[in-house]
This record gives sequence, C-alpha cells and structure tokens, in this order.
Amino acid sequence: MKSYRKELWFNIDTRRKLVNITHQVQQCINESGIREGLLLCNSMHISSSVFINDDESGLHHDFEVWLEKLAPEKPYDQYRHNSFEDNADAHLKRTIMGREVVVAITGGKMDFGPWEQIFYGEFDGKRNKRVLVKIIGE
Ligand code: ZN
Repeated sequence: MKSYRKELWFNIDTRRKLVNITHQVQQCINESGIREGLLLCNSMHISSSVFINDDESGLHHDFEVWLEKLAPEKPYDQYRHNSFEDNADAHLKRTIMGREVVVAITGGKMDFGPWEQIFYGEFDGKRNKRVLVKIIGE
C-alpha cells in the first residue's frame, strides 16, 4: 500500500471566502500515483473548513447569508471567546461547514457524483492557513 501526504497553503485576502480546491486535490492524486484508494482532505485550522458542494455563485452567496444569520461576525462582544480574539463567529461557522472530507479514488480520479466539488471555506482569513491531503491506496 502506498501513502502520500501534502499540505496546501492558503493566504486568503478577505476574512471569509469559499475557494474551489478540487483541481489542487486532483494534482495531489496525480503526484501520489495512487489509482485505487481513499483520500482525506482536512483544514488544519479551527476557523476554516473543507467541504463538498456545488460550485454555483448563488449558492455561495446563500452560504454567506445563512452562516451570518447563524453566527454573525458582529457585534464582536456578543461572544465570550472574543475577550482575547475577534473570531468566535469563525469557529462556529467552521463547525457547521465541517472539518474534512473523505473521497474514494477510482481509476486515479475522485469518484464524485455529477456536481461534487471540494471547497476550502475561510472564515478568519488574512493569514497563512494549511489544508492537509492524505491519500492511501495502491
Ligand atoms: Zn479563536
């Protein structure tokens, strides 16, 4: 069995953004040479997410509006966590959107349904953050 590990680095220039990372993850599979196996992709930070959904701009706007209703960024003083930081909303948004995805690899490609794409969800950006890609198989 082969094993592959890579960190993808991001520095998003806004506080919140959804980034389609499907191509970068496929590049990892290509580099690994693994044709049959499992891929784990997770954010290594507790204020950003990795999740699978549709690459459709209306839906991305809907995610932003929905997450702001559930955990509004402001006022900052509504959260106890914000006594030393201002990112309580980002921790909550990350929890809702998830930490990781696991994808089957078949024939050297992600075994996706028709509209599935992998996204990095940044909720407290403007700094360096990492996503881990781990692949096992043969
Ligand atoms: Zn925090």
